[in-house]
Amino acid sequence: MIRPILRYGESLLHQPASDVPVVDDEVRRLVDDMIETMYAAPGVGLAAPQIGVARRLFVIDLSVGRRMADLIVMINPVFVEREGMQLEEEGCLSVPGFNATVVRPARAVVRGLDRAGNEQTIEGRELLARAFQHEMDHLDGTLFIDRLRGIKKDLIVRKIHKLRRSGRW
Ligand SMILES: [Zn+2]
Repeated sequence: MIRPILRYGESLLHQPASDVPVVDDEVRRLVDDMIETMYAAPGVGLAAPQIGVARRLFVIDLSVGRRMADLIVMINPVFVEREGMQLEEEGCLSVPGFNATVVRPARAVVRGLDRAGNEQTIEGRELLARAFQHEMDHLDGTLFIDRLRGIKKDLIVRKIHKLRRSGRW
């Protein structure tokens, strides 16, 4: 089932999520909804808080459904390693229409549970490292624009407030 994606300003997006207590059928249904919602958007990643569920899990597929092997389901993820730095343009399904350059690690290793509840460790470089950090941020209530500084951030936030006031957000 495709779920509505929350947008910047909705409280659930701005608060930390809690661990998934047990990977059961209900969690697997949530995972399936997240995958379907991500592909429909379309996007390369989606975290549970973005569809209004304050739990620590995310899905990523850099191929957006073209290669099965690219689909990553991460439940209760933690960083094992993070190193280096990259600067690239980034966007978010919860901040539609806006992009900005964000500092991210060049390499990130994440450990968590897969859809079956088994432990997995996945290494990400470049775009995948960026996606890991972006989705992990969602689980802590942080959006990419929260990581911006100065004029660029003010500009985006002001535009969003304007859109909200006119009912277009
Ligand atoms: Zn996002």
